[in-house]
Amino acid sequence: MKIICIGKNYVEHIRELDRNSNIPSEPIFFMKPDTALLRNNEPFYLPDFSRDLQYETELVVRICRVGRTIEERFAHRYYEEVGLGIDFTARDLQRECVAKGLPWEVCKSFDYSAALSPRFLPLAGLGGDVQRLHFDMELNGEPRQAGDTSKMIFTVDRIVSYVSHFVTLKMGDLIYTGTPVGVGRLSPGDRITASLEGERLLDIEIR
Ligand code: MG
Repeated sequence: MKIICIGKNYVEHIRELDRNSNIPSEPIFFMKPDTALLRNNEPFYLPDFSRDLQYETELVVRICRVGRTIEERFAHRYYEEVGLGIDFTARDLQRECVAKGLPWEVCKSFDYSAALSPRFLPLAGLGGDVQRLHFDMELNGEPRQAGDTSKMIFTVDRIVSYVSHFVTLKMGDLIYTGTPVGVGRLSPGDRITASLEGERLLDIEIR
């Protein structure tokens, strides 16, 4: 099982990180190892190597069959369920990586950096269109992020197709599809809750 994460997939989020950043012309992806998974809404412990650990709430698509070099028009056959995840990011280390042109593993792929909702919802039960979904994230009960998948720069089908030209997708692989605007720093004692189409899926304590 692998975790594929898309960066820069919502315009307003790109602008909040860097006003001068360009909109990518192709999907940008990176990966997290299976040791990054944080399951079952278990608490997240702030790691000691970052002073700016941030949340990124994302729609997660679970791959349901093996595929490589998938054509975009057939990509919808490769996923049936969606959930939510948090792409925990050490923003201070990420800024260093970007400045020095270094890979992102230290800021993105550390242990427990990929929170995953215990439940996934069948896409068919949500209307069937992955580009017509809404998700909401609250920090300590205050709304912080509202995702509308129609605003993705790259659709899920485009992402599945693009990634599969480089990396074979297997059953159970997870794709974190990028975060909308509203990311922010976490402190001990915070609580993240998030819902997909009104269904509460994430409830994570920060310690
Ligand atoms: Mg992200």
